[in-house]
Amino acid sequence: MAEVRTPTRDGIPDEILVGGEWVTGTGPVLESIDPANGEPVARIRSAGPADVDRAVAAGLTASADPSWRDRPPHQRARILARMADLIERYSDDLARLQTRDTGKTLAETTALVASAAGTFRFFAGSCETFESEVTPSRGQYLSMSVHEPIGVVAAINPWNSPIASDAQKVAPALAAGNSVVLKPAEWTPLVSLALGRIATEAGLPAGLLSVLPGSGSEIGDALVRHPDVGKVSFTGGTSTGRAIGRVAAEKIMPVALELGGKSPTIVFDDADVEHAVAGILYGIFSSSGQSCVAGSRIFVDQRMYTDVLDRLVEATRALRVGSGTEPGVQVGPLVHHEHRDRVAQLVERARTEGGRVHCGGRIPDDPSLGAGAYYLPTIIDGLTNSAATCQEEIFGPVAVVLPFTDEEELVREANDTVYGLACGIWTSDYRRALRVARRIEAGTVWINTYKQLSVATPFSGVKESGLGTEKGRAGIRAYTRQKSLYFGLNEDPLPWAG
Ligand code: NAD
Repeated sequence: MAEVRTPTRDGIPDEILVGGEWVTGTGPVLESIDPANGEPVARIRSAGPADVDRAVAAGLTASADPSWRDRPPHQRARILARMADLIERYSDDLARLQTRDTGKTLAETTALVASAAGTFRFFAGSCETFESEVTPSRGQYLSMSVHEPIGVVAAINPWNSPIASDAQKVAPALAAGNSVVLKPAEWTPLVSLALGRIATEAGLPAGLLSVLPGSGSEIGDALVRHPDVGKVSFTGGTSTGRAIGRVAAEKIMPVALELGGKSPTIVFDDADVEHAVAGILYGIFSSSGQSCVAGSRIFVDQRMYTDVLDRLVEATRALRVGSGTEPGVQVGPLVHHEHRDRVAQLVERARTEGGRVHCGGRIPDDPSLGAGAYYLPTIIDGLTNSAATCQEEIFGPVAVVLPFTDEEELVREANDTVYGLACGIWTSDYRRALRVARRIEAGTVWINTYKQLSVATPFSGVKESGLGTEKGRAGIRAYTRQKSLYFGLNEDPLPWAG
């Protein structure tokens, strides 16, 4: 058995998990930096194409091995539950590691680690309770619909919430009996590798999980094109998702795409403004706005527009910006200096479009934050919904506030985007809340709350925000192939043949 090394005992992982073995990758060196201060955290030899081939071959063998394929679900579930226990046991180390790798605050990474443990436990339960169906018979036969593992699943994730998004794919795919090759984003490989260590320690049979940090255009692409990869579950940007979808179409391969967003948050004139302001701030500025569901377009009833805008600006100015390890900090650095510079450019473009920047709109001048990838939480108004700033995802701490005068116009503008991921509605009129929620084109609508997420509730995007559904009781089914079984019950030969 491979030597077990854990985040606690050995600090930062430096090897990658290929087909059950911890090895030095055959690809170029990836450097992870701490975006709070720009200092290197780890240098890892990433995966090369040969590692992809080894990981997929091992995954194919491991998922077909009767010791896994025929293992009763309650025994598979035990391993997933053990992974949940270990994630909890190492929760402090995992949260600290993720904060160093992504810049997110410790409060956020602690919550993501807890969510990852919850996801493994939930899918352990799903694994035990996942049933086949006996379907209504229309003749002398018994018919069943059963769900079988696909084989090798490639899980490709972005950098914003690695351990939670890893768990969202790895747990249901393993629960359904598959093997998984996980490819974390280039900037944030560390907690995904730590999850690999946890799988090894939990006794997951070798080859069922590989973790291959590496570039998207080389390693991600090689995984998607590999003939023995039977499904790709991808979370990331829409243009990458579209490219993966094209390859999947060529292979006639199922693909799940969780993509970008430009989600509207709506404040009606009867909203509890205190709750709305707190919810809006959390919805856009938590994770420094690097969240697919960030509520980045804030529509406010014209009658209370100035009041709500003033309150938003005042509350935003009061947010504490700093290192994710500092207690009380709400807005940490962005994931990388390159990404921070991109966000800064997009705010400059908003200015050229005629946007008024009410707060933020720049790098903080506090010298103690000078080396980090910080950007101040920013509120802009004065734009129309058709401005590029309101149409393109910024993925940073930037919100645009827009007035509306009537419900029809509001629904039209809220839906006037290529995306359809999430929406927030603030109102005390539940008839209106339900009416508007049903008309909004989005996978998730929050009413008088925002960004609350449960593994028990399905998550999906519509339009260019994605394809397929993760989580929920049916989440495990996404990692299976359906098969129909007919058991003949005729006493006599079939009439045609006889
Ligand atoms: P990205 O699309 O650049 O990269 C995501 C992953 O895909 C990375 O691991 C990358 O290496 C890999 N990749 C890149 N090119 C590839 C290719 N040709 N083939 C295979 N893999 C490839 O996204 P990002 O910048 O890392 O993340 C930000 C994006 O993710 C935002 O658009 C955000 O909205 C989205 N996101 C969506 C959700 C959701 O659930 N809908 C959740 C989080 C983030």
